[in-house]
Amino acid sequence: MTACLITIGDELLQGFTIDTNSAWLGQTLLPLGISIRQRITVPDDTEAIISAVSQALKTGYTFIFVTGGLGPTRDDITKAAFKTIFKTDEYFDEKYYRQLTERFKKRNFKIPSLNRSQAMLLTDCEHIPNRIGTALGMRFVHGKSSVFALPGVPAEMKAMVLETILPEYLPQATFKRIVTLQTTGIPESKLAEDVRDILDNNARGFGFAFLPHHTGVNLRIRQKPGTNDEVKEKLINRLIQRLGTHYFGRDGETLENVVGKMLLGSGKTLSVAESCTGGLLSKRLTDIPGSSRYFFGGVVSYSNDLKRELLGVPEELLSRFGAVSAPVATAMAEGCKARTGTDFALSMTGISGPGGGSDEKPVGLVFIALAYSSKTQVKKLNLIPERTLHREMTVTAALDQLRRFLLHKTSREEGNILT
Ligand code: ATP
Repeated sequence: MTACLITIGDELLQGFTIDTNSAWLGQTLLPLGISIRQRITVPDDTEAIISAVSQALKTGYTFIFVTGGLGPTRDDITKAAFKTIFKTDEYFDEKYYRQLTERFKKRNFKIPSLNRSQAMLLTDCEHIPNRIGTALGMRFVHGKSSVFALPGVPAEMKAMVLETILPEYLPQATFKRIVTLQTTGIPESKLAEDVRDILDNNARGFGFAFLPHHTGVNLRIRQKPGTNDEVKEKLINRLIQRLGTHYFGRDGETLENVVGKMLLGSGKTLSVAESCTGGLLSKRLTDIPGSSRYFFGGVVSYSNDLKRELLGVPEELLSRFGAVSAPVATAMAEGCKARTGTDFALSMTGISGPGGGSDEKPVGLVFIALAYSSKTQVKKLNLIPERTLHREMTVTAALDQLRRFLLHKTSREEGNILT
């Protein structure tokens, strides 16, 4: 199965909007055995859309995904193009217009006249419901090709793909040919060295790729046609075993989700005291629905005054060792744990840059402390000296410190962690 992705928008071509739709579609379709052969971005122009879709139909891709140009403010350029390409008619759908009117009414708006065009529908296609927005998607069949027209707004497009297109039009593509194992805390070269013999022994049936990024390395495993699923499962288990504690999840699972599940499973709670990360750890923890069951909250103590007043960090430690130091990180975590009453508290204090570094304490330095029972484990790390990356890496390192602590405790105490 092959696919061509066509994204529409002047702002995409000009670089004002990053084309995340194509990237997401690629990542979503590839594991289902659909190979993306072409990606095209065209301007907001009916002729350009007609030309790109016609060319893709001529090539004979199994799937052609078109995103954008369905909204009322874009004069429905995609609809006009599809009307020409598939030689269809249009009709006014009273029922859909009433639904739209109701939706606006619920939000205390009178339906704008521009939205009327969204109830003008094309014949000879199936319409794909839009739970989030107002433009319906479309599916045309042409020979062996299925052509989908989807909204440009990423959340609307994703919901249509996940909720309608995959279950209704691609049920045969439900098994996964690609598995991604995620690691953190180990460099790519060391990881490659550690698993080399396993990869060499399985090169016939599988393709492998190391995908490094600043917070970890993913190992992508592609099952070649003809290789059976049992062999794949065995290989994955062997690799997970070999990766050891560096492995934390697969297929896009996040570290905060993994840590959340571990906290929930052990009935323990967490609070955080953040300095250089400015609330980023709290944000990532609360990205997980249901996190209030284990995450109590946090303090963003960016200034020394707040470190003293809200967390009880002694002035003596601040003036003697400086805000970015192991004793201050320790006092922050312990103060946070004492004030919130959680089982764990994580703290972070570092220099994200670009300024503020010195020979003794360069940009990139960070101290992360984990307070638990009556002890505190503090780590000193020298991370990438670039502000955004440094903050993301700090948050990942903090989550990973807690994950490893919980793993270690669990294996040593056979599930009865932290008494
Ligand atoms: P609307 O009803 O908003 O007009 P539409 O289907 O016509 O929806 P566009 O107008 O093309 O879609 O895009 C709407 C918004 O969606 C854009 O402002 C842009 O932020 C975002 N968007 C469009 N295409 C993409 C894309 N390929 N990747 C990421 N974001 C996109």
